[in-house]
Amino acid sequence: MKVVVVGAGIAGLTAATELAAHGADVQVIEARDRVGGRMHGIEVAPGHWVDAGAAYLGQRHTALRELLSRAGLTTVATAMAGDSRFSLETSGARSSAGRLPPLSAVALGEMFDLLDGVTRAVRTDAPWLTPDAERLDRMTAAQWAQENFRHTDAHRFFPLFLGEMMAADPADVSVLHMGFYLRSGGGLNYLNAFEGGAQESRVQGGAHQLCETLAAELGDRVRTGHPVRAVIQDGTGVTVRSESGQWPADAVVIALPPVLADRIEYAPGLPVSRSGARTAPGCAVKLHLVYPAPLWREHGLSGWSVSADGPLLSTVDDSPSDGGPGVLTGFVTGAEARLFASLSADEQRSAAVAQATRLFPELPKPLAFHATDWVNEAYSRGCYAALFGPGDWVAQGPSLVSPHGRVHWAGTETSTAFFGLMEGAVRSGQRAAEEIFTQH
Ligand SMILES: Cc1cc2nc3c(=O)[nH]c(=O)nc-3n(C[C@H](O)[C@H](O)[C@H](O)COP(=O)(O)OP(=O)(O)OC[C@H]3O[C@@H](n4cnc5c(N)ncnc54)[C@H](O)[C@@H]3O)c2cc1C
Repeated sequence: MKVVVVGAGIAGLTAATELAAHGADVQVIEARDRVGGRMHGIEVAPGHWVDAGAAYLGQRHTALRELLSRAGLTTVATAMAGDSRFSLETSGARSSAGRLPPLSAVALGEMFDLLDGVTRAVRTDAPWLTPDAERLDRMTAAQWAQENFRHTDAHRFFPLFLGEMMAADPADVSVLHMGFYLRSGGGLNYLNAFEGGAQESRVQGGAHQLCETLAAELGDRVRTGHPVRAVIQDGTGVTVRSESGQWPADAVVIALPPVLADRIEYAPGLPVSRSGARTAPGCAVKLHLVYPAPLWREHGLSGWSVSADGPLLSTVDDSPSDGGPGVLTGFVTGAEARLFASLSADEQRSAAVAQATRLFPELPKPLAFHATDWVNEAYSRGCYAALFGPGDWVAQGPSLVSPHGRVHWAGTETSTAFFGLMEGAVRSGQRAAEEIFTQH
């Protein structure tokens, strides 16, 4: 059986690996000149690589862990020892033990209780069948917060929390999507935690190595530099077309974020589009500030920070575990990311370095600065993952994984477990491969 997989992110590569292992004749067609999609590594100092895309994983990410172990890759604990730094008020940055911000405990308690209530109510297997789904799908998370939070501190912290969890501006996502995302990822506590949670560890040397290993194993079955434009089915098979080639097959896996899957022309056409007018591509810019060593540790600091003002809404210590430079990763998310992405490279650098100096006055200026702008990446319209806006789950949800004839769907956005994460992408690739073997 001939199968074409469109997209060499972790979902497409997983599907292709499973298909090839069970005897299918597989071709993977990738638009970029590299594999990995939203898993991407950059070299911040000679021999030292960091994750410019996905980085963190937890114990519950079993399918991903299994692939990492087969690829001979190991994980390291995310460094969190030491005090956190918060800059949430005009009075400037201050240190505090633990990760909870120095805001009203009553406000934060109420915010987390309300979020937990919405999260527990959502059906992850079929969010559109959640009791009261239509109302929850119509309302944005921003409107919900406006109606429900009584304390100023909850209003202040909520956008930062959602930015950190989902790279979402609360105005971009429906309440149904917010609840779904949080529950699908293991619930509020798991998703938000480092030790014992979804951010517990990262891959030694960078998560992108997993995609590179899978692609190397697939060899010349992976073709890069071919943006797919059309998928044509007739009575005998299906053909995938780019501007420079075409690949006939018995079945196709489209392993792309929904917004990009919709840009492909399908004949016959899709009965329901994969995204809606309000599906947001997500907004994240990831920054890396490189120091001679993790100097913040000498000051009893973890490198973890949260700020109300951008660009750096949070930072975390992503220094290589085998010595070498200190690396602070900065996250610019939500509305702040759109603003930041519109600045020139020089403006980005000076805004980020100035804020790092305000946050950590005890540190020298960084030796180097890297910005990875996912907002303007043409082939990643979903960062961290697609943000389902008002109406999306009710309109698109029921058909998100339904095959369209010989066309099957993969990608983290098609996974009801760990949606938006590497784990969801791996599971989606496995599901699509299994579907093809049972249906063709
Ligand atoms: C900044 C950032 C931080 C993140 N942090 C984490 C994290 O800490 N932990 C975690 O688990 N997840 C994280 N994620 C999410 C994670 O990266 C994704 O869930 C996962 O990598 C998605 O994989 P995928 O294969 O579904 O999609 P993608 O990686 O997007 O793969 C799709 C592929 O299709 C290609 N493509 C697009 N259009 C076409 C076309 N027309 N023709 C051919 N090919 C095409 C793309 O180039 C890409 O290679 C993060 C993402 C980002 C951006």
